[in-house]
Amino acid sequence: MQTKILLNEDQLPKQWYNIIPDMPGEMAPVIHPGTLQPVTPDDLLPLFPMALIEQEMSPNRWIDIPQEVLEVFKLWRPSPMFRAHQLEKALGTPAKIYYKYEGVSPAGSHKPNTAVPQAYYNKMAGTKRIASETGAGQWGSSIAMACQHFGLECTVYMVKVSYGQKPYRKSMMQLWGAEVFPSPSDKTNAGRAILAKDPDNQGSLGIAISEAVEDAMTHEDTRYSLGSVLNHVCMHQTIIGLEAKEQLKIVGDYPDVVIGCHGGGSNFAGLAFPFVADKANGKDVRLLAVEPASCPTLTKGVYAFDYGDTAKMAPISRMYTLGHDFMPPGIHAGGLRYHGASPLVSQLVHEGVVETRAVQQTACFEAAVLFARTESIIPAPESSHAIRGAIDEALLAKEEGKEKTILFNLSGHGHVDMAAYDAYFNNELEDYEYPEAAIKESLSHLPKVG
Ligand SMILES: *Cc1c(COP(=O)(O)O)cnc(C)c1O
Repeated sequence: MQTKILLNEDQLPKQWYNIIPDMPGEMAPVIHPGTLQPVTPDDLLPLFPMALIEQEMSPNRWIDIPQEVLEVFKLWRPSPMFRAHQLEKALGTPAKIYYKYEGVSPAGSHKPNTAVPQAYYNKMAGTKRIASETGAGQWGSSIAMACQHFGLECTVYMVKVSYGQKPYRKSMMQLWGAEVFPSPSDKTNAGRAILAKDPDNQGSLGIAISEAVEDAMTHEDTRYSLGSVLNHVCMHQTIIGLEAKEQLKIVGDYPDVVIGCHGGGSNFAGLAFPFVADKANGKDVRLLAVEPASCPTLTKGVYAFDYGDTAKMAPISRMYTLGHDFMPPGIHAGGLRYHGASPLVSQLVHEGVVETRAVQQTACFEAAVLFARTESIIPAPESSHAIRGAIDEALLAKEEGKEKTILFNLSGHGHVDMAAYDAYFNNELEDYEYPEAAIKESLSHLPKVG
């Protein structure tokens, strides 16, 4: 019985899979937040290097991974795949459960898979500094680490409430050489305006994005970087699914269902997109994105044009959205609290290619605890949504007496999130009702495009 399914360094994928040429349906244009007209590559140049802007819109199915990026990836990739024998036994399921483990990266999640190439392309374009935002700190620590590899400076605006609550993620960023400011800060006009009105403002991802974007726009040598949602980010993450397919070949298996948790969409896209291509070619494979019931973007949002950030400075995309000013409840899976979703994942949901499910946080922590007590790895609260999805599929297989092969993405470990587990064991975690009124209010503020 094989448990770890490993690839050698020389089996590292040499190209990313770009799903754009294989997308079903019409791709919507990205809209400029000021003019409400489609954006041009020139509009985006103050924010991103041209190589990434080209990837955002590329018609090429395969894009070479630069050698310098592969050399950094070798520090932790190829990542392992596991067959969850212990979990299967505990569930008494006839299903086979496999998981791809992205917690082996230095930052502890899948996010360095895009942070490293983003830092590389910025370095090549002459960028001196990257400005970005972070909520709970997973993205901030990943981009800080990546900037170190290519000699870039890094400024991170960290949502103030997390800056206070998650001091170790701040320490990781500083250890990797980044300058970290609690947001709202007095470093930007956006931050100062909020502090003038409300000196105790605890911040939000939307505000932090506005600060980082302003920083990049007002400094010639500085560019902005985003850790999820965008097409090029989803493409960088496909290295997960490409490796997974090779690993399943070793054990002669193929999944009936592929599962990922969904915040902005990048880790789900990374595992699932290479299987979407098979599905389009007639393979019978289901793709399932699992999100929190308290921030139910894919299951309860509308498919519409909306801003990427609260301050309406970021481009407008067509996506599933709860409205750019929707404030999700403070669940512990901080990485899943985004009002929007990847436009590519959204389109696949809209076209009926990807299935969605919303789950409550206590059910996710239950799943995470069972996982930690069987497979031993302590999952990130975000990843526990994928575990919940996988366990429910396995229990259904048991009920139906059916064999089934399940593959899910264990997007990160929870070592820096032990406060969330403490809260769970102290019975301090609550489930939130679907915030219908807040979503309705927020959806009345969508921009009028087209
Ligand atoms: C950030 C994060 C997520 C959510 O982001 P996606 O872009 O939806 O993948 C999920 N899991 C972990 C461990 C994260 O750090």
